[in-house]
Amino acid sequence: AAEVRRQPALPANDVVTAPAIRSANARPDYDVLVVGAGFAGATLAERLASQAGKRVLLIDRREHVGGNAYDEHDAAGILIHRYGPHIFHTNSDEIVQYLSKFTKWRPYEHRVLAAVRDKLLPIPINRTTINGLYGLDLQDDDQAAAFLAARAERREIRTSEDVVIAAVGQELYETFFRGYTRKQWGLDPSELDKSVTARVPTRTSIDDRYFLDSFQAMPLDGYTRMFENMVDHDLIDVELGVDFRDVANRVTVGHTIFTGPVDEYFDHRFGALPYRCLDFQHETHDMERFQPVAVVNYPSEDTPFTRITEYKQLTGQVHRQTSISYEYSSATGNPYYPIPRADNQAVYKQYEALADALPDVSFVGRLATYKYYNMDQVVGQALATYRRLAPRIGVKAIA
Ligand code: FAD
Ligand code: UDP
Repeated sequence: AAEVRRQPALPANDVVTAPAIRSANARPDYDVLVVGAGFAGATLAERLASQAGKRVLLIDRREHVGGNAYDEHDAAGILIHRYGPHIFHTNSDEIVQYLSKFTKWRPYEHRVLAAVRDKLLPIPINRTTINGLYGLDLQDDDQAAAFLAARAERREIRTSEDVVIAAVGQELYETFFRGYTRKQWGLDPSELDKSVTARVPTRTSIDDRYFLDSFQAMPLDGYTRMFENMVDHDLIDVELGVDFRDVANRVTVGHTIFTGPVDEYFDHRFGALPYRCLDFQHETHDMERFQPVAVVNYPSEDTPFTRITEYKQLTGQVHRQTSISYEYSSATGNPYYPIPRADNQAVYKQYEALADALPDVSFVGRLATYKYYNMDQVVGQALATYRRLAPRIGVKAIA
């Protein structure tokens, strides 16, 4: 008798009335189902089709490709990022080379100012920040280092509070980090893993770039166009506005790549993993420029939003008007950020064990592996997944 098994292995769920069943000998409709058309899903769909010759169905429950990096022209014709500012930066030549197959680039170095009382000061904290805040005239790195050393507190570094106080002391921590973090995460920095605020360094120089990566650029025609180029392949079918649960019982597939929230895949069996959510208030103003740099952070808790982004300054678009967005954080809505904390990680580990036990499903990306990854890290993770997966699903030669 032909072996009959369920593909893909599905969690028990009321919505799925008839799980896809296929004979092991039957040819599935698609070799691979990719759930989610963000960086993780688009990279894997592209590799599996173009390098491995696999027939891929790529779906997303949103009406567009690109995941959170999606950009679009608003009513005024200005290119904006619907889900907040995305700046591409990486130290990996491999990732630049890979994405450069699908886009040209516009060099862009990101700079951010923090609104503190009536001043706009560079963040990450650098010598200019200290001089501006305290009315000082520190002349070189040594003087700035001595200023910070006099304030920095020696302590064991476990939390996001420790990281900053150990580098700059209590006052600068409160001015630039405590309020912003409490708004952004709904938690005090002392309740967050050290990795969160450790993303933002402290400098004694006057270098005011947000990132120091060797490659910093924006896709010349936007992220969405880049994604469209990635998935434009004869072997890739794209279905948008479609949830995984809706296709799982109508198509048969050999392997599934899942890039949505891992806890949702397993029906929240071990409880919901917390993800931080965002709301954006997009506006267009009748002026060419709204603020001096692309992003201004608002660290004070007196202001309800965390930052304002002016998109033309990221994209270089020339337009007589300008579009901006106010960014608000919340506990409910679409998942945007995994929340790095030991207790959440422990729950994730339980889901990861379930995920690892499913040979026909790969979990990739920021939501599916519950990792606070930047875009380049997600592409790197997806390329590594492809290399591991390819021999298992019958790919002989990997380019
Ligand atoms: P996503 O982009 O979230 O894609 C997952 C997709 O899966 C989504 O489109 C979702 O609709 C779909 N999906 C989920 N579940 C299902 C389901 N059941 N059925 C069908 N579809 C499903 N990174 C940087 O490098 N630089 C930045 O400047 C930067 N800024 C950021 C700013 C903000 C506000 C945010 C939130 C993130 C930022 N990032 C930045 C991180 C970047 O967005 C992520 O690293 C990257 O987009 C993650 O890609 P992904 O494919 O893992 O996930
Ligand atoms: N952060 C802060 N003040 C700032 C900038 C960052 O407190 O002006 C903290 C905050 O907790 C934030 C984290 O550092 O979530 C990481 O900042 P990053 O700019 O990398 O956040 P992202 O762009 O991923 O939202």
